[in-house]
Amino acid sequence: MAKPAILTVDDDPAVLQSIARDLRKQYGKNHQVVPAGSGAEALEILHQLVLRESPIALIVSDQRMPNMVGTTFLGQARSVVPTAKLVLLTAYADTDVAIKSINDLGLHHYLLKPWDPPEDRLYPVLDDLLTGWRRAHPDSDGGVRVVGHRWSDRSHEIKTFLARNHIPYVWLDVDQNEEARTLREAANATAATELPLVLLPDRDPLRAPSMRELATALDLHTTADKPLYDLCIVGAGPAGLAGAVYGASEGLQTVIIEGSAPGGQAGQSARIENYLGFEHGLSGADLAERAFRQAKRFKAEMVLAREVVGLEARGPVRAVRFDDGTEIEARTILIASGVSYQRLEAPGLGEFVNQGVYYGANATDAPATEGQEVYVVGGANSAGQAVLNLARCAKKVVLLVRSSALEKGMSQYLVDDIRAKEN
Ligand SMILES: Cc1cc2nc3c(=O)[nH]c(=O)nc-3n(C[C@H](O)[C@H](O)[C@H](O)COP(=O)(O)OP(=O)(O)OC[C@H]3O[C@@H](n4cnc5c(N)ncnc54)[C@H](O)[C@@H]3O)c2cc1C
Repeated sequence: MAKPAILTVDDDPAVLQSIARDLRKQYGKNHQVVPAGSGAEALEILHQLVLRESPIALIVSDQRMPNMVGTTFLGQARSVVPTAKLVLLTAYADTDVAIKSINDLGLHHYLLKPWDPPEDRLYPVLDDLLTGWRRAHPDSDGGVRVVGHRWSDRSHEIKTFLARNHIPYVWLDVDQNEEARTLREAANATAATELPLVLLPDRDPLRAPSMRELATALDLHTTADKPLYDLCIVGAGPAGLAGAVYGASEGLQTVIIEGSAPGGQAGQSARIENYLGFEHGLSGADLAERAFRQAKRFKAEMVLAREVVGLEARGPVRAVRFDDGTEIEARTILIASGVSYQRLEAPGLGEFVNQGVYYGANATDAPATEGQEVYVVGGANSAGQAVLNLARCAKKVVLLVRSSALEKGMSQYLVDDIRAKEN
């Protein structure tokens, strides 16, 4: 499948060239950037892309253009590609038009010219919009495919790792899907130990890869750049990410080491309602991604898929040891490693962990329970959020609670929402 398109429209050739260059620089690896010199030309291109079944993720249009102004063009573009994100690039004098279009047209954002530096005035908004678009179209870029057995713990770990790192993927179950069997044959992965296969564009198949092998293949940053930092933070949950923002914003050379994915427990939350400043709530994935980007903007370095296994005092510095025996040093270490799940002591349960029995439910796990009956064990907020999340897809969700009333361990808003669910 073709890369999702970003269409940019401006009647001034110099401006068009400049915005197309900035868009290619930031998004060219995963998107085709298509410039157009007028609304009419852009509509023609949109029709061609739709006919070729090329996905269109984003349209960035100038407002003041002869023959067809930006808002008129975007209105027409919206009926051709209703799912594309729409952005108006305006001069200051046109902000009233832009604000009105947010309601009238469903415009997603407006940006002011000039957009220099794009790192501050263009990319943050477009990053948000493209992330939202990708979440709604996980199979759009023909990127990562995971081929494996549904009840395999390795398949589950890999899918969870991809989801928590916001990497869209297509899951192909070898027990149910003809394409999965064909791909397995093509890769000659006859042994069960070679599954799951992870297929990436222009690469040999990865056979039952470790998290580090997968992270490296995906170009995630897995090795610290420097031997010595002012501040090393272990864990990129909300606490670690906040530490990185404050440390790096004070000018400390900051590195954050995360064993899995940014966001920690919060990254698994379908909806966080009590985070200061977000009056309508936001998903844990959204919170994690915003915090991750904020820390990176202050030049904090993020090292992913690396486990810290040891610390050692060494004069004025501390050595931080990784699972592969390598190490870095830091003047200060902040341990923000959070908590891990308390294990349920039920005989025989251990052998089914990640093979039908799971600790915690990611927001992305719900579709796998379509039409099924799911049991959730626990009586506090994580269990409550899991119930609401799974009830979107499962036929029936049964909550097993030790205490006599849900209210004893769960926030009232979750109790109310659960009681309002029919299944
Ligand atoms: C499903 C769910 C929903 C929730 N909803 C809400 C809510 O709505 N409101 C609310 O206030 N709270 C909520 N919480 C609780 C909230 O998410 C936690 O309180 C918060 O995430 C704790 O943050 P933390 O950074 O201290 O630790 P964590 O989030 O646990 O993060 C710790 C991080 O450290 C990493 N790590 C651990 N050890 C190592 C190591 N040795 N090397 C490298 N990395 C390591 C882990 O991989 C992890 O990413 C929810 C929790 C869950 C599970």
